[in-house]
Amino acid sequence: MVRTRIPPSPTGQDIHIGNLYTALINFAVAKKNHGKFIIRIEDTDRTRFQEGAEEKILSSVKAFGLHYDEGPDIGGPFAPYRQSERLPLYKKHAEELIEKGAAYYCFCTKERLDELRQQQIKEKKTPRYDKHCLILENGERTRLDSRRRVDARRGIENGEPYVVRLNVPANKTITFTDVIRGEIAINSNDLDDQVLLKSDGFPTYHLGVVVDDHAMEITTVIRAEEWISSTPKHVLLYQAFGWELPAFAHLPIIRNPDKSKLSKRKNPVWASWYLEQGFLPETVLNYLALLGWSHPKEEEIFSLETFIDLFELSDVKPVGPVFDLVKLTWMNQQYLQNKTDAQLKKLIIEFSPRATKLSEETLTALMPLLKSRMQTLQDFEAQTWLFFTNKLPDGTDKELAAELLEKFTGITDWNHAMIFAELKSIMLARKVKMSVFYQLFTGEKHGLPLPEVLEILGKDKTLELLKLAIV
Ligand code: GLU
Repeated sequence: MVRTRIPPSPTGQDIHIGNLYTALINFAVAKKNHGKFIIRIEDTDRTRFQEGAEEKILSSVKAFGLHYDEGPDIGGPFAPYRQSERLPLYKKHAEELIEKGAAYYCFCTKERLDELRQQQIKEKKTPRYDKHCLILENGERTRLDSRRRVDARRGIENGEPYVVRLNVPANKTITFTDVIRGEIAINSNDLDDQVLLKSDGFPTYHLGVVVDDHAMEITTVIRAEEWISSTPKHVLLYQAFGWELPAFAHLPIIRNPDKSKLSKRKNPVWASWYLEQGFLPETVLNYLALLGWSHPKEEEIFSLETFIDLFELSDVKPVGPVFDLVKLTWMNQQYLQNKTDAQLKKLIIEFSPRATKLSEETLTALMPLLKSRMQTLQDFEAQTWLFFTNKLPDGTDKELAAELLEKFTGITDWNHAMIFAELKSIMLARKVKMSVFYQLFTGEKHGLPLPEVLEILGKDKTLELLKLAIV
């Protein structure tokens, strides 16, 4: 059975929009294959841990409708789904690697490591651990160095801080197949003896991810491009354990319009920001789906179900797609326009609870006017400002207000056609444009069609606002 996962780290405010993209692809691959989509929390970096981040990540993933089958809050057959609750497992596996000669204890102090680094930089070498703790005094490398082992044991017993490092073999070609990018080969000489288990007993990403992906029977590892350089290290670990490799796919990194990596400074990066701005979750998913993939018929608007149906991981293009807020906004407008009045009303009430202050009749009447004119749900409050005010905007043209008051008072059948007829006669007589009325009523130059809006607002309320404006 296909099993995919995302292992977000609770180190930020929420799930990053790039990780939501990764989540979408993982979700789609699992659903397409009638498999399972899993969330595992990678909370092993205690220095960057943020209280509340996990809850926020999980609630965002749910808000976007990417329902997971197993996770820290719902459990599952491979619980726990939080790495901080799985520490004995990593320790056990680190020891297994040491037994096999694929890893070793390292007692080097920070001072020694800093010195080594400085020295290597000076010699224009890539900074890298020198296997000091693996090398015998006579300079030979060994995997069964009993003396070192005894030393290590003694060190551990004496409470000396240590880490466990990956013993990268020299000059070996490591290959793996990426579903999106094809075969990737790298020479082991380019890899560092990465720390696997830290001195605080927590695993690093590399050990944690491999142990858990294997333990949780993950079949397809789909993650962002930035992790490609980690994969060869993982391959070494899989080989050392004698485990079968999962399929790997590295998704392209989403970029800002200037092609830099999507960052907080240029674009909003937290997934919930888009919901707070009034984008619909399905718009965001539809938009993300099109990053790096296109619909076979070049369609732009499609449902999650359609995407799951048509999507093939191997069709993802590896080049960095650009995140374009303008296109997302256009797409959201299409989505809002395609809603029924009842659906739109429900969405608006959920987004702007103050909408319930309006009568059911008023809200219902506003829907057809709003529908084609909203880019995001936030537009509701801006567009219907007149319904929530007791006073027209400052700087009213009192003379114009007085004339309107007089003309409107005379309307017996209050409807948009009659209202428009009166506005038209004033426009002709004063040689002014419709925008002066918008200005008077809303402070803006345009907005929802004014005669229709005033019809819904009602004669009494309209006259009352005009009266107040001329005193
Ligand atoms: N913690 C990493 C992230 O949030 C996980 C990378 C992976 O999927 O292996 O991107």
